[in-house]
Amino acid sequence: MMLDIEQMKIQLDDNYAEMVQMRRYLHQNPELSFHEYKTAAFVADTLRGYGLEVRTQVGGNGVVAKLQGELPGPTVALRADMDALPIQDEKKCEYTSKVPGVMHACGHDGHTTSLLFVAKVMSAHRATLQGNIVFIFQHGEELSPGGAVSMIADGALEEVDVIYGVHLWSPVPLGQVTSRPGAFMAAADEFTFHIHGKGGHGGLPHQTVDTIVVGSHLVVNLQSLVARNVDPTQSCVVSIGSFLGGGAFNVIAEKVSINGTTRTFDPQVRLYVKERLKQIAEATCQMFGATCELEYIDGYPPVVNDGSETDRFMRVSESVVGSDNVHTSEQNMAGEDFSYYLQKIPGCYMFVGAGNVEQGIIHPHHHPKFDIDERSMLVSAKLLMSMAMDYIEHHRA
Ligand code: MN
Repeated sequence: MMLDIEQMKIQLDDNYAEMVQMRRYLHQNPELSFHEYKTAAFVADTLRGYGLEVRTQVGGNGVVAKLQGELPGPTVALRADMDALPIQDEKKCEYTSKVPGVMHACGHDGHTTSLLFVAKVMSAHRATLQGNIVFIFQHGEELSPGGAVSMIADGALEEVDVIYGVHLWSPVPLGQVTSRPGAFMAAADEFTFHIHGKGGHGGLPHQTVDTIVVGSHLVVNLQSLVARNVDPTQSCVVSIGSFLGGGAFNVIAEKVSINGTTRTFDPQVRLYVKERLKQIAEATCQMFGATCELEYIDGYPPVVNDGSETDRFMRVSESVVGSDNVHTSEQNMAGEDFSYYLQKIPGCYMFVGAGNVEQGIIHPHHHPKFDIDERSMLVSAKLLMSMAMDYIEHHRA
C-alpha cells in the first residue's frame, strides 16, 4: 500500500506539464456559477477517458465519478469546485481569460485540474485499491445557495464515509499547508431591517414617527450585541454596510432600510445573533412607535472540520510538504459551501499555499490580478491522494 502511494506521487509529478496545460485551458475558458456547462462536459469527458463511471447533471452542473477498487473497503470522497467569478481578468500573461468579465479569480480551475489528475493516477491503481473513491466536481460554489446542497440531495454523498477538499490559497506561500480542527471558516449571513414610521414635515416632528431617528438608535443598540450579549470567548461580527432613508432636508423619512452582515463560527452563536437582531429591532421600534421587518438571508454555514480527520491532515501532510510546512490556521472569515458536506459526514477542508512573492503571485482571492503558483496543484493532488489512501489504510475491510 505504501509503495502505491509513493508510486502515485511520482506519477503525479510526471503529469505536471499536462496539469499546467489543462489548468490554463480552464483558466482561459471560465464559466460563471450555475453556468458551468462546458466545464462540466470537459470534466465528464476527461473522467470517462480514465475509464471511470461518470454521473453528470448531479444537482445541476455537478459531476460525480466513482472509482470502484477491486478490493472491498471504505469510500472516500474528494471534492473540487469548478465555477468562476464575474470579474474582468487584468493579468498580463499567455493564459488570460478569453471570456470578457469572467475570470477564475478564486483558483477553482486549479482545484478541478488537481482532482482530475488524482482521478487519473488513482484509476491506474484500481487493481490494488481496497475501497472506493468518489470524485465530486461541484458547480456553483461562489453563489448562494451554492451547488453543494443540491449535489448532496442528488446523492453525491451516497455510501461515502469521509470527505476531503482543498482550497489553493494565495495568502499562504507555496509549499505550506494549513487547516484547523473545528470551526475553520465562518458563516456569513446577510440581514436587512425595513423600518416603517410616519413621514411628515421637518418642522412638525411631533406629528411623525421619524425613522431616521429610530434607525440611528437601532444601529447604536446593535453595538451591544457583540459587546454585551455574545460570549466573549466566541468570535462574532455584526456590521452595518448600508443605511438608506430620507430624501430632503425638511422632510421626515417615512421609512429606512438598514443592511448588514453577520459572521459567526459557532452554530449556536449564529442562531442566537439572528434572534437578538430581531428582538433588538422590535424593541427599538416599539419604543418610538415604528414597526420593523427583518429580512435575513442564511449564507453558508461555518466549515467545521472533524477533529480526528484534521489530525490525519496534520500527520499525512508532513509526508507531502515536510513537518516545518504544516500549520494550524487561524479561523478564516470567508465562507465556503464545503460546510454542507461536513454537516453530513466527517472530513477536513484544507488550504494549500499557492502564493509566491518572488514571482509576483501576491494578489488576494477575487482580485482581478489573482493567480496561483501552479506547482500548488501538485501539492494539492498529493495531499488529497495521501488523505484518501491513509483513510483506506486505517479502515480497510
Ligand atoms: Mn473559492
